[in-house]
Amino acid sequence: MIAFHLGVLTLAITAYVSALAFVAPELAFLLAITPVVALVTLAERHLAAAEPAAPPEDRGADLAFALLTPIAPALVATGAAALAIRLASVTGALWPVHAPWALQALAAFVLGDFAAYWAHRFVHANGALYRFHEIHHSVRALYWLNALRFHPVDTLFFQLCTTAPVMLLGAPPSVIAFAGVVGQTATFLQHTRVPVKGGALLHTSLAHRLHHREGAFAVRNFGGTTLLWDRLFGTHEAPTDARPRLGPGRALPRAWLPLLFGPLSPRSRTDGHRSKRSHT
Ligand SMILES: [Zn+2]
Repeated sequence: MIAFHLGVLTLAITAYVSALAFVAPELAFLLAITPVVALVTLAERHLAAAEPAAPPEDRGADLAFALLTPIAPALVATGAAALAIRLASVTGALWPVHAPWALQALAAFVLGDFAAYWAHRFVHANGALYRFHEIHHSVRALYWLNALRFHPVDTLFFQLCTTAPVMLLGAPPSVIAFAGVVGQTATFLQHTRVPVKGGALLHTSLAHRLHHREGAFAVRNFGGTTLLWDRLFGTHEAPTDARPRLGPGRALPRAWLPLLFGPLSPRSRTDGHRSKRSHT
């Protein structure tokens, strides 16, 4: 099944680079992600029959959060772009704009992957931020749409940590969008029902199920596209054939609006952090 994971990543990168020759990076991003979504949903039908399905009552909230998710990156892109123009004389000199494009794309990817690891680890350690990230952990079974089930505050924080720094360093849009294509494709692959073990360096679906494990004594596998940083910083756990029970570890609403506004209530803050603490 690792061939499926590698194949989808290769498809996304090839589609993006090919499209970039004809259209703007933003459109190339969409042209690369669309076949990824189609392929992953199709594969879930044919390669994941034995895997647990997401409860139907979660589908509405999944869809609503998925539609909200692009708003935060758009805000970050707008804000960071405006700032980058103002600071161009300082920050623009920091990005190696004259290096080969492939090298710039690789640098943007590695920086983003490193930032994604630490941002994710930080939200699990910080009670105020975890109550928003807990929405992502409220699912009982993973499937591709969970890759977009993030509270807007959670998405905003991740984008500020991962995309904004590269933008402020002066990286060209085509390079930033490349890192976005790889990162978003990897997020779909982490959450797909298609069981891919792997997990030595790539963050596969079975490795990510351990991250979503209910009542885990210690949260593991925080990485984005890779598990390199988990291996380096001692948070890696290799997947096995066991299927852990998934979930937030406490009762949470299933409907979208209570999930959206719940993290803002003072009681939820206390409960969410206490619940998280009990798992670590
Ligand atoms: Zn998490």
